[in-house]
Amino acid sequence: MNRTLIILCLLVSSNTFTQEPLYDFLLFANSRMDGSWFYSKAAYRSPSWIKNRQGQLPVSNATFFTPGNALELAFVNGKEGVWSASLFRPELRGQDRLQVPTHLSFHLYLDSNRTTLQDLPALQLLNRDSSASQKVLLKDFLQALPQKKWQRVKVPLSAFEGFKTAHFATSMGILFSQNSNDGNEHRLFIDDIELIAEKDWSPIATVPSLTKAKGYGRHIDIEWKRLEDTSIKWVKIYRSADGRNFVSTGIQWPATHRYADFVGETGKTYHYKVSFLNKNYEESRPSSALSAATKSLTDEELLTMVQEACFRYYWEGAELVSGLARENIPGRKNMVATGASGFGLMALIAGAERGFITRQQAAERFVKIVRFLEKADKFHGAFSHFVDGPSAKVEPFFGARDNGGDLVETSFLLQGLLAARTYFKGPGENEKIIRGLVTKLWEGVEWSWYRRFPESKFLYWHWSPDKEWVINHRLIGWNETMITYLLAIASPTFGVPASMYYTGWANLDSTGQQYRWAWSGTKEGSMYINGNTYFGIPLDVGVSNGGPLFFIHYSFLGFDPRRITDAYTNYFTNNQRIARINYRYCLENPGNYTGYGDSAWGLTASDGPYHYSADEPVGRQDRGKIAPTGAISSFPYTPVESMKALKNYYYNHGKFLWGEYGFRDAYNLEQNWCSEIYMGLNQAPMVVMIENYRTGLLWRLFMENPEMKKALDRIKRKD
Ligand code: CA
Repeated sequence: MNRTLIILCLLVSSNTFTQEPLYDFLLFANSRMDGSWFYSKAAYRSPSWIKNRQGQLPVSNATFFTPGNALELAFVNGKEGVWSASLFRPELRGQDRLQVPTHLSFHLYLDSNRTTLQDLPALQLLNRDSSASQKVLLKDFLQALPQKKWQRVKVPLSAFEGFKTAHFATSMGILFSQNSNDGNEHRLFIDDIELIAEKDWSPIATVPSLTKAKGYGRHIDIEWKRLEDTSIKWVKIYRSADGRNFVSTGIQWPATHRYADFVGETGKTYHYKVSFLNKNYEESRPSSALSAATKSLTDEELLTMVQEACFRYYWEGAELVSGLARENIPGRKNMVATGASGFGLMALIAGAERGFITRQQAAERFVKIVRFLEKADKFHGAFSHFVDGPSAKVEPFFGARDNGGDLVETSFLLQGLLAARTYFKGPGENEKIIRGLVTKLWEGVEWSWYRRFPESKFLYWHWSPDKEWVINHRLIGWNETMITYLLAIASPTFGVPASMYYTGWANLDSTGQQYRWAWSGTKEGSMYINGNTYFGIPLDVGVSNGGPLFFIHYSFLGFDPRRITDAYTNYFTNNQRIARINYRYCLENPGNYTGYGDSAWGLTASDGPYHYSADEPVGRQDRGKIAPTGAISSFPYTPVESMKALKNYYYNHGKFLWGEYGFRDAYNLEQNWCSEIYMGLNQAPMVVMIENYRTGLLWRLFMENPEMKKALDRIKRKD
């Protein structure tokens, strides 16, 4: 590619994504988990050696540059043999727009007087295709060899011959390896490894301002005034037990203006200050201090705490133009996820009822939301899976074919909108606007268009204006799409026959059987009905032994499962059984995964160490990964078991699992991994299902829509 073309491409891409902020290429800042860093690999051949924990590099909580930890490289440069340590970039969902880098940068700390420049390792950069650049020697890029002191090392990328700079965004990482054979032991600490665009950043003159500190069971929430300044790299958190001696305890992304400090003890007072680190890691003056105490919580207070933290994802964490939910945080900043937004609408309503915000604040947000949705791209009335907030245009995040309507996401969004239409029934102008626009959006969805053929038995998931039905995905239960059929049948404008509930959703012919069989890998439940008993629990309906738990959450955040009994089962009873099967599977723990048990259960869809996956209580779909939303969003079905899990996640795993938006998406103790993200699809169901358990609020609001009763009557009559 010649230079002109490169510049042209850069221009095009910067125009297309003008407003999507770019992420730094971060290889390591902190390990969420103690002990070792998941995205690393250490290996050696004797007599050389490198300290490792099950092949992963250890992390040090005692010596670090950015709190709370750094990587430890403790090694023996054998006379023969070799050691190596590689680090891989965690590819976080949606963090795919990156600054074009010029340098590799990290902080280095030498722990031994014996170590000379010659003893330091060689470095290589790893390309996506697993090929490595030529070696460069760390000693060539050090100004001096200070002991027991952090120094920043920068190596221009041009020094790494063979590194494919054009493909940096998909490159894998960095490799440290033995470069001398002095026969001695050495120890280095390494922190803040990243590829950076070298620039002189000014020190940050603004002194941060802490605005709130509030204690809960074992953590203290602190808030500060957000500063819009692109030179901020991190907000640094200091804690003190006595108000005089402050120690740094953590860092936070600058886009977030709060931090949940998990102190691990109840009944303790702590004082806090924060400072800003710029992109050269220069520190601003610290804020003045605020203090708060942790205190014991009743079960009711604990539920409210979880609801409020998860609610913030949709309130504070919303995309700025639309007021709707992002796919995950941190992730794409401008991209709205429509289904997650629908769940989030119900979380906002629960938040208003619990007093996290006022009803008026909620109404103002909903006005912004419905006005945005009115102008957003629609495809025969259906919304796309993802929408770009600033332009309100479809965002084909899942590939070029996904550039049209997504009927399932649309139904998740409408479930939330219809609950809001009933909630905002007051006389105020804002509430009138909300009711009017929700009705317009609801009546605009051409559900019948998504049958594809006039006499079709099925609804189809996607339609694209230029690629039409190319994805060709029929909606067939049992899964998360029951709400799509219910709404399509309930629509007063573009309704479909109620018989499609039986011919499509609960289809019994070969199309339905093959569909269920194909995704589940089993014939159990392939006739929609199941009839088997799992762990002593009979299951009426469900593929395999019920599938991932989101099947019993997404359609039933607003739709009250107690209200639907069809020819096969009652869906509250059936959902409850699916939750209990999942619970008993995790208790039995046939995969023998660390940490599973009666207080850590609930396999469902979530972020994973390498990618999103839908886990199920069967061996082939069980990866040792637990998502807190699994058990917690099952609260109405299994209140005792769900509460036990919630307490374990918070009290015992809170140090890594609890954060500013509640529980992080998932963790895997077997692999010493915890997700760095919160997901829009997973936080709101916790708020909403806890609320349904406590008061039945969202079930009542949604079911009050008169269209629902009519639809249920028609399904019963099979017309
Ligand atoms: Ca660190």
